[in-house]
Amino acid sequence: MSCIFCKIVNGELPSRKAYESETVVAFHDIVPQAPVHVIIVPKKHIDTMNEVETGTDDAVVAELFHAARQIARELGIAESGYRLVNNCNEDSGMEVSHLHIHLLGGRKLGAIVS
Ligand code: IMP
Repeated sequence: MSCIFCKIVNGELPSRKAYESETVVAFHDIVPQAPVHVIIVPKKHIDTMNEVETGTDDAVVAELFHAARQIARELGIAESGYRLVNNCNEDSGMEVSHLHIHLLGGRKLGAIVS
């Protein structure tokens, strides 16, 4: 099992946790692109958004968004604003093939696409 995010989920790799529930873990990005840059992942390994199964994974996907709202509140950026980003496959620049959402904020963010 070589997935970096699975290793973080299992505690084999260290991370700075921002949130944890039964199905989701969130941790601070090691190369932050903004003052707040948190990666939110399902504990279950799902490669990308393309592999999310309707029905089976609905609760997990909902929990990713619940986590994002909660973390934004806890880190004080809920009112100033934040961005959620999901990369999928090569053209998006996806580096880690384990479904995740980037939570970015703490400064005025630039254009969505570059
Ligand atoms: P992607 O391009 O959407 O796949 O984003 C992967 C993100 O994971 C990048 O922003 C990386 O900086 C981040 N990342 C990679 N390895 C680690 C780690 O071990 N801890 C925290 N973040 C990581």
